[in-house]
Formats: sequence, structure tokens, C-alpha cells
Amino acid sequence: MTRDKKRKAAVRATQKATGLRYTQAARLMPEPETEAPAGPSGPAGDRIGQSFTLQELLGECATFPPAVVDWDWDPEYKCQGPDVFQSKLLGAAIPFGTVLELAGELSREGRGTLLHLESLSPLESAVVSSGGQRRFELIITQDSVYELCRQSRCSSHPQNELIPWCRDHLAECDPGVLVDTARDWGYAHYELTNNYAAREGTKEAVALIQAATAQGTYNKVLSTILNACFESDDVIDEKVFWDAEDALAIRQAIERERLRLEQAAEAEYRRIQGKVGACVACGKPFRYGIDMDIPARYCSPGCVPPPPPVAEPEPDPWWAAPDSDADSD
Ligand SMILES: [Zn+2]
Ligand SMILES: [Zn+2]
Repeated sequence: MTRDKKRKAAVRATQKATGLRYTQAARLMPEPETEAPAGPSGPAGDRIGQSFTLQELLGECATFPPAVVDWDWDPEYKCQGPDVFQSKLLGAAIPFGTVLELAGELSREGRGTLLHLESLSPLESAVVSSGGQRRFELIITQDSVYELCRQSRCSSHPQNELIPWCRDHLAECDPGVLVDTARDWGYAHYELTNNYAAREGTKEAVALIQAATAQGTYNKVLSTILNACFESDDVIDEKVFWDAEDALAIRQAIERERLRLEQAAEAEYRRIQGKVGACVACGKPFRYGIDMDIPARYCSPGCVPPPPPVAEPEPDPWWAAPDSDADSD
């Protein structure tokens, strides 16, 4: 009999003798010393930091037998845990359904995707990152997977699949990446909505604008969002696709959204300045005005540190092929 089973038997005996409910009887019993369940490759946790491919994990999922684990849940809840197997790669029990859901999430990355075990709480959850980019929380108590913010060790969720950081880490990403992210999200939002009114009022646009306010890239990100979600002024002026009423409707939608995001940015600017209290570089109090072209935590352009040197981009392997068709004739 395991230590947990012994304790449960003792609790039930106390319950029977006293007439108390199980949870009340359990509170009277001393808690056993916690001991992490051991996986087949040793104590849980000794695989943290290790890497393996999705294909290897799927191989275990397809061939390993179901394992019996003691969930140590209150029998009053009458819960049954998911079907699990003892993964050698994770060094812990993991539900078959959780691994299959992870495979679904990574279907576009492919079965050779390298996974890195970031953390593990046996019989609760594990965190893996894929190729140093996407991060997932593998739920062990259910057949579930949740995507996490891309920042290592962050337990928050991303804004959505096209804005893959939480609020704090979105503001910390490279300004060029923030503009690209705003553009990609805006185009996708444009495609998913079929009228201009539906393109206004999203929480994603506000999240992007708040991050831009923190970075001092408000104007660039605002114009990127409005151009991607609606149309540029040039296209509207050409009057190719709309009659006068359509053109007026789209201009009104753009101006409503511009005003909404401007208000969100001002509120964020004040929030950041209230949080830091004074310029983080010189310590002087903030002046009354708002300068959206500098990060909100600095008082003036002179206090903003120069951007770090830009690293040389890696050559694109698709264009580096010496025998490409374009060069052959
Ligand atoms: Zn985060
Ligand atoms: Zn300053």
C-alpha cells in the first residue's frame, strides 16, 4: 500500500468512527511528507532542460501502455483523471489526449519540431517550448494544452495566436517586431470581418496600442493598424470600390477607431507614468504634456537611451540556394 493509500484508509476509518465528512476527517489527519512521484527514468524533474522531438513524444504516446497513477483527489468529488502513460522523455505521467492536442497545435511546425522541457509539476502540468519560439502548458489533470506567452518562464497567456505575448512582454518586444505583429494581426482581422463596423472596437488593437505607447512607437503602430484593418487614404480617395456613401462610412469607421485608440493610448501613457512616478533616466517629474514618440517612462527625447545595435540578419536559406531556377538561365 502506498503512503497516499495508507492515509486515505486512515481518513476513511476516522470518517467511519466519527461520522464526519471525508474532507473534515482529512483535516484531522497529519499530511504525509510530500514526495515527488518517480518516473521511469528517475525522480520527477530530472528531465527538466532536456530536449526531444514531437515525433519521439508521439512515439511514446502511440506505443506506451496506460499507467495507473494515484491522483489523490477527494473521493467526494468523484472525479476520474484522464488516461495517462509514463513518459520517459518528460520523466512523468502525461495524458494521451494532452500529447495529441499538442501535436495538433504543432501540426504546421511538423513532427520533427524540437521540444524543450522548461518545467514540470508531477500530476499537475508541464511547460515545453518548441524551437525556442512557441511555449505550451501541458495539463496533466485533463486532456488539455494551453499556449503561453513566448517569453521564457512567463505563465501568462498570449493576446491571441497572432499576438503571441502577454501584455507585459508585448511591450518589451522589438519595435520592428511590434509593427510587423500589428500588420499581420490587422490583415487577418480584415479578412475575418465583412464590414467596417466589425473591424472597430477590438481588445487586440488596444493591446497593440498600449505596447506601442510603452515603446514610443504609437504613431507608427496606429497607422499600421488603421491601414491593415481598414483601407489607406489613397485607396479611399481613388473611389474605385465605393460610392460616396461607402467612402463616408469607411472614413467614419476609421475616425471612430482612431479616437478610441488615441484615448486608450493616453490612458496607458498616464498609467505608466503613474506607476514609475518620475522619469526612469533623470528622476525628474513628468511634465503635463504627452509625447507619443518617446517611451512613456522617459520625460524627454534626451533621456531615451539609444537603441541597441541591430544584428546582421541571417541569410535567408530559401534565397541562398546557388542553383535556383531564376539564375539558371
Ligand atoms: Zn509574458
Ligand atoms: Zn528624464
